[in-house]
Amino acid sequence: MSETSGAGGTGGGASGAGPRLRAVLDTIPTYKPGKPAASAGAGGPVAYKLSSNENPYPPLPGVMDTVLAAAGAFNRYPDMACTGLMAEISERFGVPMSHLATGTGSVGVAQQLLQATSGPGDEVIYAWRSFEAYPIITRISGATSVQVPLTSGEVHDLDAMADAITDRTRLIFVCNPNNPTGTVVRRAELERFLDRVPSDVLVVLDEAYREFIRDAEVPDGVEIYRERPNVAVLRTFSKAYGLAGLRVGFAIAHEPVAAALRKTAVPFGVTQLAQDAAVASLRAEDELLGRVGSLVCERTRVYEGLVAQGWTVPETQANFVWLRLGESTVSFAAACEEAGVVVRPFPGEGVRVTIGETEGNDIFLRVAESFRKERF
Ligand code: PMP
Repeated sequence: MSETSGAGGTGGGASGAGPRLRAVLDTIPTYKPGKPAASAGAGGPVAYKLSSNENPYPPLPGVMDTVLAAAGAFNRYPDMACTGLMAEISERFGVPMSHLATGTGSVGVAQQLLQATSGPGDEVIYAWRSFEAYPIITRISGATSVQVPLTSGEVHDLDAMADAITDRTRLIFVCNPNNPTGTVVRRAELERFLDRVPSDVLVVLDEAYREFIRDAEVPDGVEIYRERPNVAVLRTFSKAYGLAGLRVGFAIAHEPVAAALRKTAVPFGVTQLAQDAAVASLRAEDELLGRVGSLVCERTRVYEGLVAQGWTVPETQANFVWLRLGESTVSFAAACEEAGVVVRPFPGEGVRVTIGETEGNDIFLRVAESFRKERF
């Protein structure tokens, strides 16, 4: 049966009214963005958005000036090859330009990776729960997801992931730190895992939160990529660099993977504003990473506060914390919202709470404390 004519396909049969759509779309969960914070109405409470792992700091003035200058020319297409940005990344990471590919956020690059490697009949392995885009982009490619449960400690079960490899496996995501649990895999276990992966299977180290890591045992994916031709690294300007709204991310990968990623990119996908802002951000990296340092201090404060309240919280190396609340997830999220912070519930599982402004973090801690006293 062809993909377009499957029973229950979105578009119906030949006699149906609308165009036929791929039946696989019926099985694809919709990506749920973090809920926005209610705008502070007249006299209303200030609301803090802790639902999308964004950077709470506004753009740096210098980055803002760069974007405003680029805005004067948006009647023109951007530089399709992202030459300036690629050159900057190449120098910053010590990798050849031919090993780089950019996209509309790292989720865009992840989709390019799927398109470059996987199609119907192929398998894509990743931990679950992990970044919610993985099942979506895997289904869109036509490939099949193989989800390997996290361990009871909420960490990637790399042994089980290696056991799940078959001759149909084309790509494996390792999300490090993992979204939404914040947990990490360390150097020795990752190397042991990579030794078990056949050389024709691409392993993607998704390091969207790399800059927030303080555990010295967590390897830098770029160092691992240098040694292993079947490893690609995904990075983004959305989190530590604070450019989530501009949509730019990149991959570092060996040829021919990087070349395939450039082929599967949406032409002109990364705007000139995004390219110029990313270059300016790399040049202002000291200042931006200083902000990351402050967020890491806040993370420690929030983590320790929760532990002192009696919560079991997986150790996090990202800009968020994870509370496994099970059936209480939705009511906890509602209590947060009522108090003025919007968090990210995964109903029946838990909530992910981004480390944001101190005031927002304080509200979250207060809600967590009273919720715990009332419910547990
Ligand atoms: N990877 C992970 C693990 C993420 O959490 C996110 C953002 N939620 C992304 C990739 C994508 O981020 P962006 O597309 O903004 O680069």
